[in-house]
Amino acid sequence: QHYLNRINQHNGTLNAFITVTEERALEQAKAADKLLAEKKAGALTGIPLAHKDIFCTKGIRTSCGSKMLDKFIAPYDATVVEKIDQAGMVTLGKTNMDEFAMGSSNETSWYGPVKNPWDTDRVPGGSSGGSAAAMAARLAPIATGTDTGGSIRQPSSLCNLTGLKPTYGRISRYGMIAFASSLDQAGPMANSAEDAAWLMNVMSGFDEKDSTSVDRDVPDYTASLNDSLEGLTIGLPKEYFGEGLDPRVAATVEAAIKTYEKMGATLKEITLPNTGLAVPTYYVVAPAECSSNLSRMDGVRFGHRAEDPKDLMDLYTRSRGEGFGEEVKRRIMIGTYALSAGYYDAYYLKAQQCRRLISNDFQEAFKEVDVIMGPTATNPAFRFGEKADDPVAMYLEDIYTINTNLAGLPGMSIPAGFVDNLPVGLQIIGNYFDEARLLNIGHRYQ
Ligand code: GLN
Repeated sequence: QHYLNRINQHNGTLNAFITVTEERALEQAKAADKLLAEKKAGALTGIPLAHKDIFCTKGIRTSCGSKMLDKFIAPYDATVVEKIDQAGMVTLGKTNMDEFAMGSSNETSWYGPVKNPWDTDRVPGGSSGGSAAAMAARLAPIATGTDTGGSIRQPSSLCNLTGLKPTYGRISRYGMIAFASSLDQAGPMANSAEDAAWLMNVMSGFDEKDSTSVDRDVPDYTASLNDSLEGLTIGLPKEYFGEGLDPRVAATVEAAIKTYEKMGATLKEITLPNTGLAVPTYYVVAPAECSSNLSRMDGVRFGHRAEDPKDLMDLYTRSRGEGFGEEVKRRIMIGTYALSAGYYDAYYLKAQQCRRLISNDFQEAFKEVDVIMGPTATNPAFRFGEKADDPVAMYLEDIYTINTNLAGLPGMSIPAGFVDNLPVGLQIIGNYFDEARLLNIGHRYQ
């Protein structure tokens, strides 16, 4: 009730939630009370949570931030939602997001932009901006997000949160509306590494309904939070501290990294020479996959349907024309072009080769270091409209986060400090399935 009251009070200003599931939340809370009374409660029983509106929730609107799915009521729960329900957590509602998770500022949502609680003239980041703003304003104590190119980490950085994008395959993508299937991964957005670890325990694991989920034991992510960092080797890629980085962000992040030296870690400069390829590679791979994934939104099986179509072609074109926003259309056009006969070798195939080079860079680096650190984003939260008319400026927002998605590696953003009262995140990147170590490192800082 406390959180529902806060949502009622502040959501009008922040626009963090698209749907508030008040009745269901109170029912789930009552059920949790009962479990508590019967001494059957688990660690997370009764803890309220907000879901990014990209996860299918049975009987509840699942909009993905798009007019296309404004009236879509999912007929089943995503595996993540199912696991969280089973843990006894209480769903407060579904959070706002960039349309189909395409964006870095939450300005592409059909439901309007989300405001950053730290400064309401500024963006909360994206695409999981609704989850981030809800958390930062204490409208929810923990939330889910998804990260295709930075969508958990960058809003976490801009809103002073701990956000973890796990290894590709760690968490089931079943029931998570697909943007770019080879990059998408769900994860927790929390107030601390410890909270993130608790939610990781619930979200992770193999799922036979997702062929890319990995059949591998889930450790107790809370068990190693306090491990010593003595002897840890931290790599600092010179490409992450160069041109384009706000010097105030650089100073904040460098100061945060220094604290690890005091805890017994060694710092080592490294190079990830193909970093410059990441943004162009991503903006071939992600649009290509999204153009294919979004072809199912045809006005017949899902979502918005144009009125009085003349014929089938008119139904398709007008439904899609009316249902999708500008950025989504741009991505579908780029992706369709890149996949066209004659262009496939020049763009998609090349991008896959670049992706391998980026991935190899990381594996070379992990021969010398245990983890990699750097900024999460080049800048603190920017003002509404500042980058909205310049897609390339917006795409560069994810220059430090996209690489890990292309390589499938885990990455985490933790609060590092402030620049002019605006939060700045420190990014920690690990080798495959090294989430426990990332959480340990994040926990020791806080
Ligand atoms: N900002 C990036 C994009 O627009 C990443 C988004 C995401 O991770 N979902 O594609």
